[in-house]
Amino acid sequence: MHFSDDLALDGNALAGPMAELFAVDVTSALVMCNDCGAAKPLAEQIAYVGGPGSVLRCSGCSAVLVRFVQTRDAVWLDVRGSASWQIPIAPA
Ligand SMILES: [Zn+2]
Repeated sequence: MHFSDDLALDGNALAGPMAELFAVDVTSALVMCNDCGAAKPLAEQIAYVGGPGSVLRCSGCSAVLVRFVQTRDAVWLDVRGSASWQIPIAPA
């Protein structure tokens, strides 16, 4: 991990808040970085929570992958920093 500050958590910190939005366990979703192309599970990325919103950063290059803000009646999800999300589902 490139981050040494006390505010950084791993991506598991966003699993709870995002559970309401995604009906799947997002911790195992492969999130590909738009900047460096690295694809890692959400759980292995770097999460900053506790501000007005949460930020998920790439564990490889520290680019912002996801911004997540929850208000009383809506969730704002900015995923422009991620090239793709590969989300495992049960075989049909
Ligand atoms: Zn990256």
